[in-house]
Amino acid sequence: MTTIATTNPATGDVEKTFDALTDEEIDRRIGRAAETFAAYRTTDLGRRAEWMNAAARILDDEAEQIGAMLTTEMGKTLKAAIGEARKCAKACRYYAAHAAEFLADRPADREAVGARDAYVRYQPLGPVLAVMPWNFPLWQVIRFAAPGLMAGNVGLLKHSSNVPQTALFLEDLFRRAGFPEGAFQTLLIGSAKVERVLRDPRVKAATLTGSEPAGRSVAAIAGDEVKPTVLELGGSDPFVVMPSADLAAAAEAAATSRCLNNGQSCISAKRFIVDRGCADEFERLFVANMRALKVGDPMDEDTDVGPLVSEQGRADVEELVADAVGKGATVLCGGERPDRPGWYYPPTVIGDVTRDMRMFHEEVFGPVASLFRVDGAEEAVELANATGFGLGSNAWTRDAGERELFARELDAGQVFVNGMTTSYPELPFGGVKRSGYGRELSAQGMHAFCNVKTVWAA
Ligand code: NDP
Repeated sequence: MTTIATTNPATGDVEKTFDALTDEEIDRRIGRAAETFAAYRTTDLGRRAEWMNAAARILDDEAEQIGAMLTTEMGKTLKAAIGEARKCAKACRYYAAHAAEFLADRPADREAVGARDAYVRYQPLGPVLAVMPWNFPLWQVIRFAAPGLMAGNVGLLKHSSNVPQTALFLEDLFRRAGFPEGAFQTLLIGSAKVERVLRDPRVKAATLTGSEPAGRSVAAIAGDEVKPTVLELGGSDPFVVMPSADLAAAAEAAATSRCLNNGQSCISAKRFIVDRGCADEFERLFVANMRALKVGDPMDEDTDVGPLVSEQGRADVEELVADAVGKGATVLCGGERPDRPGWYYPPTVIGDVTRDMRMFHEEVFGPVASLFRVDGAEEAVELANATGFGLGSNAWTRDAGERELFARELDAGQVFVNGMTTSYPELPFGGVKRSGYGRELSAQGMHAFCNVKTVWAA
């Protein structure tokens, strides 16, 4: 059975354990979600926006306490955790401000369809199950909850078992902001109970961010029940560097991206694909930037990289590095865990990575970069796309032709040129291939859990 507990990754100490909900309690909460939805679906959009703005204020006002909770539960640096709370506040404000526009009836060409009136109306689906991961424990939830609640859906959160305090905080956040009781509830349950919730006829859809096995399982059950899903799974984003690029800026962004969230982000650049014309210089700068990052207590102001989330998380990273080194890869920096309590792993760059190494095909969920050298943009694209993943991608070049080539040919949900891949409420977020399907954020993220209803009247 899954343990639902806060275990501090910086010390390895179990700080607090929680009881999982009983089946009766799960049913009661689903019932409450369905009852709440019946009334909530027609609440005034202005009221919803007031509540959402109130949630934003709480996130901003309490960012420091919230940040400390996140750091204690999953090890990201305190400054990153506070930044996450503020980013969530912005997303809440964004959807409060834009929901009316995104949900407005969209008129159709009446003449073409031979109607007196014809339009598209966006209506909520009902209770949506959100299965969420620990790596951005607030942001991943808010990016579903803000558009979802504004659209008139209600949420049931099954969060990762290692972030229960954050999970409970989220339920409390929306209640304190004024949303009706039952509009957003946390289910403290292990993953084995997800099927029970998803098969319940009162639950209408699901969104999952996490690993491929979890996504496959949820999508299979939802498929069997004919319920819509959005999946945001792993990534192994390419970071292409061409000779015309600003190499210093690229190398700095490369290190920041790879070590974001202690190396545990789905849109971290993970595979660095560098044209031979600038490879020596980029490698020198990149390795220097990686070495300069300070590993330490995530609560300290000057720490850049804290511990990995769990002992298993670090063991997985070490295994991938050992596999690569065993097959001839070179460690250019890092590669050895420090001798201290907690699940620390240093920023690491691995050169001479080849296709027979696991690191080439698998997501490395820790601060480990693989470095490749290529001849020209075409080869860079081929290597960048030689992966089962297709979440984000980066390209660094000042050449207009190359910029167009990368925008067109990189097989990913996002292409960022001369800047680090990140997510904005204003832009759709999601992947192709085994990185998942559907889109979060922007109007698209809101419509993903709407009944896009055609209304035609003679
Ligand atoms: P998981 O995918 O196991 O966990 C994510 C969420 O899914 C959690 O709430 C988890 O619950 C739940 N879950 C797990 N298995 C199932 C299942 N079979 N059915 C329904 N729900 C399930 O991620 P991990 O935390 O174990 O991380 C493993 C790997 O996943 C990482 O190394 C990384 O590669 C990838 N990952 C990618 C993320 C991303 O942002 N794309 C985020 C997190 C992980 P519970 O905690 O109770 O098991």
